[in-house]
Amino acid sequence: MKLSELLKSDKFSLSFEVFPPKTDMAFDSVKHATEEIAKLRPSFMSVTYGAGGGTSRYTLEIAKNIKEHYSVPTLAHLTCVSSTKETVHEKIEAIKEAGIQNVMALRGDLTPELEKSDRSKWAYRHAIDLIHDIKASGADFCIGGACYPEIHPESANQKEDIKYLKEKVDAGCSFLTTQMFFDNNLLYNFLYKIRESGITVPIIPGVMPITNGNQVERAIKLSGSFMPQRFKSLVDKFGTSPDAMKQAGIIYATDQIIDLFANGITNVHVYSMNKPDVAAKIQSNLSDILG
Ligand code: FAD
Repeated sequence: MKLSELLKSDKFSLSFEVFPPKTDMAFDSVKHATEEIAKLRPSFMSVTYGAGGGTSRYTLEIAKNIKEHYSVPTLAHLTCVSSTKETVHEKIEAIKEAGIQNVMALRGDLTPELEKSDRSKWAYRHAIDLIHDIKASGADFCIGGACYPEIHPESANQKEDIKYLKEKVDAGCSFLTTQMFFDNNLLYNFLYKIRESGITVPIIPGVMPITNGNQVERAIKLSGSFMPQRFKSLVDKFGTSPDAMKQAGIIYATDQIIDLFANGITNVHVYSMNKPDVAAKIQSNLSDILG
């Protein structure tokens, strides 16, 4: 099912993100974890591409398994930044052949090596270049893009970031998923600004449950997200007690989701990080709301 159809529903729902295994040996355990998450019957599941060290060649295998065996709509991520046209076109064909209807078109992060290389030689410089190629391939995908309530770290300012975001949407994105954030007011402020700029596609807020103290630093480094004092206090107090931190992180994320639902959002994307227990707990915390 295309997410553009699914997102028309006014029923509250959760979707979950998983990532592919980092090694061949980890394949079975990752597959099992993603299957356990699929059994929760989320509105859809997204499978990252190379992010978090996951091996990109497994993105499709995991997405296909979830779709075919659990009938959960899937969203396959695809990045383009260090790729040739040929590789990207092969990937687009493979997604099409796997019967996956939803593609998250991303540029991908710049490694220190890429930062230094000559960008004029790159086949793809921005996600919009990938979106153009997906469209040109003739494949009938529902395309998603990434957006940043706290501004993409490379952007000079929010105005510029939103200008490029609008171009990305106009090129063919049917929805946008946000970077993680820990203060919902930042999301509401962002929504106001992007609606004002003429972006009307559905926005799926991304919420990351922080379930261990060590995860905090990495999450902040990757996302550049602002840590509200309320969250910092929680990490200070429980960060070194694994069970307590896990419980507090799940409750914090649940609280964020309830507030989002109460303020007009219907689907929240949970960065569930291949953790079925965390996904299940958040879902059960919201059982009466999700219905
Ligand atoms: P772009 O849309 O290209 O934007 C990158 C920067 O370039 C921004 O500052 C933007 O304002 C600017 N820009 C955009 N278009 C133009 C233009 N035409 N001219 C000049 N400047 C422009 N990474 C992975 O490796 N794998 C994943 O699976 C993955 N999934 C993600 C999912 C979500 C929801 C999010 C938010 C991020 C994800 N990422 C993933 C990380 C993502 O690849 C990085 O954040 C990356 O730095 C930017 O990707 P983008 O698609 O937003 O890039």
